[in-house]
Amino acid sequence: MTRFAPSPSGLLHLGHVVNAIYVWGVARALGGRVLLRVEDHDRIRSRPEYEHALLDDLDWLGFVPDEGRSPVRRQLDEPSVYEAALRALRETHHVYACDCSRKEIGGECYEGRCRDRQLADAPGRGLRVELGRAQECFVDALLGPQEQIPARQCGDLLIRDRDGHWTYQFAVTVDDARDGITLVIRGADLMSSTGRQIALARMLGRLNPPVFLHHPLLHDATGEKLSKSSGDTSLRQWRAAGKSAPEIIGRAAFLAGLIDTARSVPAAAVHTLFRG
Ligand SMILES: [Zn+2]
Repeated sequence: MTRFAPSPSGLLHLGHVVNAIYVWGVARALGGRVLLRVEDHDRIRSRPEYEHALLDDLDWLGFVPDEGRSPVRRQLDEPSVYEAALRALRETHHVYACDCSRKEIGGECYEGRCRDRQLADAPGRGLRVELGRAQECFVDALLGPQEQIPARQCGDLLIRDRDGHWTYQFAVTVDDARDGITLVIRGADLMSSTGRQIALARMLGRLNPPVFLHHPLLHDATGEKLSKSSGDTSLRQWRAAGKSAPEIIGRAAFLAGLIDTARSVPAAAVHTLFRG
């Protein structure tokens, strides 16, 4: 089981189409299933109109999930799973309150200032879980063997921020465990956080964390990552310009290096891009 998990905080772009091509293409080529999960854990940036637009764009493109479309599966439909996961984590690991601001922490790596302060869990404080110093070794399904030391990259993992929101890392790891996701397919820009997600999955009691596949991002002709300003416009704009769904999927597949020339590819045929 794999998943397509867009956040309803903006419109779908070609980068999302590339991810959909990999998710549906690999799932169909391997005989797997696709769950659609709307990642609305960020209550401040998520908007119903973006959710509506992304579902409509996905339908229009022809990417049909096996689960999660009707009814739509949203993270915040079942907030109790995160509380339950937190309780379970507290029983086996050192979870502690932290009142450090982002500014105080400075870079990405948290040095553990509040680890032994025994602060009470109170509004305005975040929650962290102590990570061991262990190295995480995993095999990316596309890129091969990887090694990361999460404690050195990020320090003790933030699981709930100071505003009371579950963090992305915690929410997706809990969701993937609950949904039985065995293969996570996502862009290469998220590679650096994979070791900590695998570590957290194991800490949450998942004996077999998912396999990860990190795919290339969109690049323009010069090899630069495609930005919104250099042509990664929203699907809304492509649709308004009269492009068909197979044309857009073909363009995304071409810009991601999956095919040599931009040609039309229907969603129902993306699995053919992954054969032999
Ligand atoms: Zn702190």
